[in-house]
Amino acid sequence: MSVTVVGSIAFDAVQTPHGGRERMLGGAAVHFSLAASFFDDVRVVGPVGDDFGDAEYAVLHGRGVDTDDIEHVAGGKTFFWSGVYHENMNSRDTLETDLNVFETFDPKLSRESLDAEVVFLANILPALQLNVRKQCNRAKFVALDSMDLWINIAREALVAAISAVDCVILNDSEVALLTGEREVVAGARKIMQHGPQAMVVKLGKYGAALVTPEDSFWVPAFPVDFVADPTGAGDSFAGGFVGCVAAHGGEAGIDVLKLAMAYGTAIASYNVEEFGTERVARLTGPEIVERVKELRRITAFDTPDVTLKG
Ligand code: AMP
Repeated sequence: MSVTVVGSIAFDAVQTPHGGRERMLGGAAVHFSLAASFFDDVRVVGPVGDDFGDAEYAVLHGRGVDTDDIEHVAGGKTFFWSGVYHENMNSRDTLETDLNVFETFDPKLSRESLDAEVVFLANILPALQLNVRKQCNRAKFVALDSMDLWINIAREALVAAISAVDCVILNDSEVALLTGEREVVAGARKIMQHGPQAMVVKLGKYGAALVTPEDSFWVPAFPVDFVADPTGAGDSFAGGFVGCVAAHGGEAGIDVLKLAMAYGTAIASYNVEEFGTERVARLTGPEIVERVKELRRITAFDTPDVTLKG
């Protein structure tokens, strides 16, 4: 089995109430790859410029991520994003987005990447997502992420891409923007009418919901003591979630999806404790297992009902 991810590879600058970084490795595909690498072989597809060097590759190689399909655009500069987090850390403003080599990105997947059984289409132009989806003929499970920009300027293309995948992962405000529906389950079901059999609605510091045609399943965010930087939490979640499905051979039955919610939650919780990729780059399997176990403990209750009056 292997997982292919197509998306942004970036340098990020962030400011949070607890400090900041002027320039750190980021990008949706990077955060996803590091998280998914705990479950399966991962191939990352995305463009970089001349400023992307050995130190950045070393982070990906440190987790065994295959970087052969990273496209080095000679003379180009790597995508740059900067943002500032509000006091509550649950919302942020984008200060700058320099697309650079990302502007003309047209994903070229090697045979090995095309043959992946599990594919994650990170947040890129929806027409490119659909194009990649159509080429990945052997994929058993394809998930997609997007953002408000594409909902606003490429809605039809986004709906076409959504129609071609098995699972959509969005945050609650994106679901509301896409459907006009504020309630999580109702909004998710509207999106699933286009074809996907499952949806994950990310709720930031409040956790995430899995919605299927018949049911919904809710996991809180893991209660960490300190949040340094939420950047990449959504993509780390997606890496853990999709990676867990890959570890089950791409079979996304409801029990696997529920477990995947726990792995996504656990890895995202480590991501936010330090800046950018700093924490996940040195994360270990046993640490992930420990938080999944703790999640089970803090969400289960089996005390018998009380007898109520009335
Ligand atoms: P998340 O915090 O999970 O939403 O992901 C943040 C990551 O997405 C950062 O590392 C950014 O580099 C990347 N990013 C920000 N804006 C965009 C964009 N317009 N397209 C693709 N990736 C982006």
